Amino acid sequence: MGTKGREIVGMDVNVVLDLLYKAYADEWLAYYQYWIGAKVVAGPMKDGIIAELLQHAADELRHADMVTNRIIQLGGTPLLSPKDWFDNTNCGYDAPGDPFVQKILEQNIKGEQCAITVYNKIIQEVGLKDPVTYNMAVQILQDEVEHEEDLQALSEDLGVILKT
Ligand code: FE
Ligand code: FE
Ligand code: MG
Repeated sequence: MGTKGREIVGMDVNVVLDLLYKAYADEWLAYYQYWIGAKVVAGPMKDGIIAELLQHAADELRHADMVTNRIIQLGGTPLLSPKDWFDNTNCGYDAPGDPFVQKILEQNIKGEQCAITVYNKIIQEVGLKDPVTYNMAVQILQDEVEHEEDLQALSEDLGVILKT
């Protein structure tokens, strides 16, 4: 880790790290929820929905990569075991027990709304006291906002089909 890079953080590094550990747990759980959801999903518009779920899964994995790189830069230790994900998560995990398209979309929309809240909170808390974490959180928040919108648009289209 870079010493000067850590020195410029104008707040308790452990506070930043705690926020990042939790976000890291969320990203892995979100990744798996999308990935397994894409495998089991069933119903109308399935192919388009699978493509979107897999794209979002790839984004969540990329977010996990970004967050863990920042954890390491700050001198922290990323969560080393999947069981730690459940102890640290903000947003939890919704198993796709009901594979119907509308239900899967609903679960993932809820997840995105939680992610938006989490990254918005990180941005507010960290602010310019840690510009590198701030910038990372802004980039991820932009993706989460897009994810929510994509899923809500699919859900709306599906609503039209299911009513006719
Ligand atoms: Fe994410
Ligand atoms: Fe997302
Ligand atoms: Mg998308």
